[in-house]
Amino acid sequence: MAHPSAEQPLGEFALIRALQRRFARRKPALVRGIGDDAAVLAVSSRQWWHVTTDLLVEHVHFDLRTASPESVGYRAGMANLSDLAAMGALPRYSLISLAIPPSFRRPDVVRLYKGMMEACRPHGVTLIGGDTSASRSGLFLNITLIGTTARGQALLRSGARNGDLIYVTGRLGDSLAGLQLLDGATAKKRRRSTAISPAHRRYLIARHLRPTARVREGCWLNTAGLATAAIDISDGLSGDLHHVCEESGLGAELQEGAIPLSSACRAYARATGQNPTHLALEGGEDYELLFTVPPAKQTTLERQAGARGFRITCIGTMTRRRKGLRLLSQDGSRPIPITSYEHFRS
Ligand code: ADP
Ligand code: MG
Repeated sequence: MAHPSAEQPLGEFALIRALQRRFARRKPALVRGIGDDAAVLAVSSRQWWHVTTDLLVEHVHFDLRTASPESVGYRAGMANLSDLAAMGALPRYSLISLAIPPSFRRPDVVRLYKGMMEACRPHGVTLIGGDTSASRSGLFLNITLIGTTARGQALLRSGARNGDLIYVTGRLGDSLAGLQLLDGATAKKRRRSTAISPAHRRYLIARHLRPTARVREGCWLNTAGLATAAIDISDGLSGDLHHVCEESGLGAELQEGAIPLSSACRAYARATGQNPTHLALEGGEDYELLFTVPPAKQTTLERQAGARGFRITCIGTMTRRRKGLRLLSQDGSRPIPITSYEHFRS
């Protein structure tokens, strides 16, 4: 999509909302259209279909100088699987479209596909189509995934209630730390980041290049009826929590000390003079799930998670809308700036 106006840049989310207002229409079988991690279609009497699509653009989303074709394909597959995980859907079918520049040779395309298949095959995804074109400006990769749930059963962004507990899977901030290590963000940071151990460095880069979509966790939360809302963390904790708040008409309060961080992320933040909480709040592409749970279900949730070996952490509570998004720390409570990654914003 072209830049709408050079003088008045419209953010990605405002642009999507404007397009939605102008062109989206209701249909009887359309349970959910624009605005969630996937569209939801009531196509049969027993199932809902969940459809999600993602476009990855060379020089915007990935850099083939620091990432192999396999890892670009793998991350693309995981990013899409993560959107289905956020709906609690079981991944089923994929369509893959490519625009290939002259510099990207046939063996590179095969490597790209190997990465995508490595991500999708363990989840039983079947490739059913796509499209192929030449490109004059970099590699474009678009994946569409279709998943299913039982009819009437899905994790929407809009289901959270006041007083629900906010949980996340895994740990946050690792992917941004890994990206900064790959990019060497600034010369200064690069010099100081040598202060972290090679094991921490390898771990953070691997979390960026090879994230894990929480598909099994999403299906469990959905079928066990434990979560009221869910989203995957692709734009950063603050931005994605903001989406849940907007869709659910609520505010949220996070406990800074509860946000799960790896020791590698803490070490990296220390070495580069950054606040590790900021890496978690602002860092995108962790592909963990954020979900909300009624307090009455907390004990069952934690017991079942433990029995399944799923790492989940309670990081806060949903509040009334007028309270906005707040972070509670030892120094008191302060508003959380919405810092999610948005295209067309400098
Ligand atoms: P996610 O980060 O989960 O992939 P996005 O922020 O990309 O979600 O998209 C938010 C919503 O807007 C989704 O429902 C998506 O399908 C929709 N959307 C994004 N871009 C467009 C577009 N160009 N036209 C119509 N809908 C769009
Ligand atoms: Mg998403």
